[in-house]
Amino acid sequence: MPPRPLPPPIVATSNFRFADTAELERALRRDGHMYSRWDNPTVEAAEARVSALTGAEATLCFGSGMAAISTALLAGLAERPRLYCQAQVYGGTYELAAELLPRWGVEVAWFEPETWPDVVRGEAGVVFIETPTNPTLRCVDVAALAEAAHACGALLFVDNTFATPINQRPLALGADVELHSATKYLGGHHDLLAGTVSGSRAFVERLWRHRKLLGGILDPFPAFLLHRGLETLEVRVARQNATALALAAWLEAQPSVGRVFHPGLPSHPDHALAARQMTGFGGMLAFEVPGGRDAAVRVVDALEAIPLAASLGGTGSLACMPVNTSHVGVPEAERRRLGVGDGLVRLSVGVEPLEALRDDLARALAQA
Ligand code: PLP
Repeated sequence: MPPRPLPPPIVATSNFRFADTAELERALRRDGHMYSRWDNPTVEAAEARVSALTGAEATLCFGSGMAAISTALLAGLAERPRLYCQAQVYGGTYELAAELLPRWGVEVAWFEPETWPDVVRGEAGVVFIETPTNPTLRCVDVAALAEAAHACGALLFVDNTFATPINQRPLALGADVELHSATKYLGGHHDLLAGTVSGSRAFVERLWRHRKLLGGILDPFPAFLLHRGLETLEVRVARQNATALALAAWLEAQPSVGRVFHPGLPSHPDHALAARQMTGFGGMLAFEVPGGRDAAVRVVDALEAIPLAASLGGTGSLACMPVNTSHVGVPEAERRRLGVGDGLVRLSVGVEPLEALRDDLARALAQA
């Protein structure tokens, strides 16, 4: 009997050997392993866990969130090259849809949380949303949009990175495809890049061919780290939900803080929708520092326990200003229209004790 390790072994190989030609030919029909750009056992172990978490029939892992999104969009738009895309998606997704996809003949129409009923009409391949959005945590009604997408013959893609499958189950709400930058909460430790796409067996089969040919599969080592991160996802997210909500409520009571954005706060414009379609409000929040950019810079630079860094979703809290990170490429007028002010600070809340984060914020706000 060969040894049977508990975690999946890191199968660090580019290719697999065969006992004979019959076995090789079975692998060509995907009964067995041929080449790690096609499939890899460590990657498959992570995929099985993501399928269980999302409630999907199947999942594929990619080398980054953007590799997952771009490959899934090409697969989803292959037959009907028309995309309805929410304007508040992650900057990389926005650039892909605004600049690259049209060069491949894809027609793109944009909508907002309020305007989608007027835009999502007529035949299309994909409707793409992110909910809650970055950084103001606006929410979109997944079930209603799924109905509208299906009436257009389109698949509804939901980038569920901010919510995580613990707080929101897009497939159960009617969406067809759930995507993640697994770099964030799924990995959870700021030590890997990965992306996932989950959906029906039929869609994932089509996606598999695109992944094989575009070459974006995840490497076995980060797949091992992702699998390990997923073991603690539920406990990390439960704690991050509780700490973020408590911090948001505390920040809202501070006279030195302007508006606070967190879907768990009754003051958030989408609180009722979030309460209906999410089972937890997530670990992300944002707040305005009166005094604009310079005042916000003083706050983030004065933080000690909370590092100044982009990205999100790890065990350690991070602070950043969207104006010089996620939204640096968005024209100023458009950024303001999206509610992303110069003095906005975004917090990705980690698993540290609430008091440690609150004390760091209180000190930085007082100092600034
Ligand atoms: N989707 C969301 C919501 C993100 O925040 C990001 C990255 O910041 C991505 C997708 C892209 O993921 P990655 O950086 O892993 O390519």
